[in-house]
Amino acid sequence: MMSTLQVIARPFEGVGQFIARMSETRENHWAGLAFDVLISLVLVAVGLCRAEVHAAVAVAALLAGLLVFTLVEYSFHRWLFHKPVPLFEPGHRKHHVDPQGHDSLPFFLPPILVLLLAGLFTLALPEGYALLLAGGIAAGYATYGLSHVAIHATRFRHPLARRWAASHHVHHFHPDCNFGVTTPLWDILLGTRRARR
Ligand SMILES: [Zn+2]
Ligand SMILES: [Zn+2]
Repeated sequence: MMSTLQVIARPFEGVGQFIARMSETRENHWAGLAFDVLISLVLVAVGLCRAEVHAAVAVAALLAGLLVFTLVEYSFHRWLFHKPVPLFEPGHRKHHVDPQGHDSLPFFLPPILVLLLAGLFTLALPEGYALLLAGGIAAGYATYGLSHVAIHATRFRHPLARRWAASHHVHHFHPDCNFGVTTPLWDILLGTRRARR
């Protein structure tokens, strides 16, 4: 016999299964990339329109957001997608097995998280700078998503672009190095950089 809790939870199980199935589709993948770009543009545009924003500080807030994101990207990939706390390892393993696959987060989740983050930042910063900082982080995340797709779908001609993409291809063969996708900065600083010979 079902407990009351199971009866209450049942419709949510259906929703969870629907979201899990949706997350594996190509449509969700592309909608996610589009929404990530959109939310970053909206945050930056609204942040810049705030009266208190000075140009130099606005640029600094944006750059700080981008830099913070690169560290988040590195940390999640190194410590949560792989080891020692493999919270997201099952989903990430699918990507290592099938780099062209579409498995990704539900398209609405990152924009919601970034809006919550922007709300949190407004508790400590003037609204304009809070939105720009969150916008920088969102722009970093959107760049990460687009870069990752481009790296696996494109054969670059420019030597610099080839070197940049090769760094992530090396990670697919050696999962203990090259955790940064958009930039090798944190791999260089934290000693996990491995260049292709
Ligand atoms: Zn990859
Ligand atoms: Zn990986």
